[in-house]
Amino acid sequence: MINLLIFGPPGSGKGTQSEKLINKYGFIHISTGDIFRKAFRTKTKLGIEARGYIEKGELVPDHVVIGMMSEELEKHTTSKGFIFDGFPRTTIQAEALDRILDKNNNEITLMISLEVEEKELITRLVKRAEISGRCDDQNISVIKNRLDVYKKTTQALIDYYKEANKYIAVEGTGSIDEIYSRIDKIVNKLF
Ligand code: AMP
Repeated sequence: MINLLIFGPPGSGKGTQSEKLINKYGFIHISTGDIFRKAFRTKTKLGIEARGYIEKGELVPDHVVIGMMSEELEKHTTSKGFIFDGFPRTTIQAEALDRILDKNNNEITLMISLEVEEKELITRLVKRAEISGRCDDQNISVIKNRLDVYKKTTQALIDYYKEANKYIAVEGTGSIDEIYSRIDKIVNKLF
């Protein structure tokens, strides 16, 4: 089983590239952001709890995210493999993910880290706000806060996966297809 972690700051193209990988390889896409957005559209307890954090561009607390993720993974015990998108975002989450996967004799195969300059990320997110309908794309100070949270907390995960020899960086600029072909070359070799 191949389990990929598609990693990068907000606006780096994780969701877009995950969709393309799913179409080709049949992975199960686990996007914590998508799960939270669905939860608050359907007004579940989880959605109501998460919304306040998301609107401010803050991270939802680890125990909430990890609990949700364990439940999500239990739903797909026969999967060919997962693409984790937007999770983990903290070291505590990464350790929890290792433990959850290990219970089924599984592990993260590779972290693919999309590298994009901050100026480009802001331009992309401001543009995405016009079509995404996402509450956290609408306000520049929330966008900047999300980028700060990435730098202060989430970026440290690069070292976590580097130490495990599971890190690879991919240039995240160019056309969607150009970026995808860089990623696809890497993923293809894993099979
Ligand atoms: P995303 O769609 O991945 O950009 O996530 C949107 C928002 O959902 C984030 O800014 C956080 O508020 C929340 N979120 C998503 N994934 C996580 C996570 N792994 N840990 C904490 N908060 C998360």
